Amino acid sequence: MSPVKPSNKEEEYFLRKEAEKLKVAAEKARKEMEEAEKRHLKDLHWMRCPKCGMAMKEITFRGVQIDKCFSCGGMYLDDGEFEQLASSEQKGNFLSSLKRIFTGQEEEIH
Ligand SMILES: [Zn+2]
Repeated sequence: MSPVKPSNKEEEYFLRKEAEKLKVAAEKARKEMEEAEKRHLKDLHWMRCPKCGMAMKEITFRGVQIDKCFSCGGMYLDDGEFEQLASSEQKGNFLSSLKRIFTGQEEEIH
């Protein structure tokens, strides 16, 4: 065996090291692809109705931001907003006011 030629063991060692590096690089690329896909989906769906896909409009009513779809009529509440509505002292008033706003129907005052 020639002294300059690497032994099979050395060759195997270097290839194993190279394979480990390539595996780490592939894992990094996979994670970057996942992040890019997440950003892409967020860009596509941001403020879009989850049911019909039309753009939603934000309406602030008594401090609660309501995302409303004027195409299919759906409404979206962000995290904590439902709790804010449910714990509101005026929840009865709040919900019937909301109904009047979005249906355009006046209710009789008793
Ligand atoms: Zn919709």
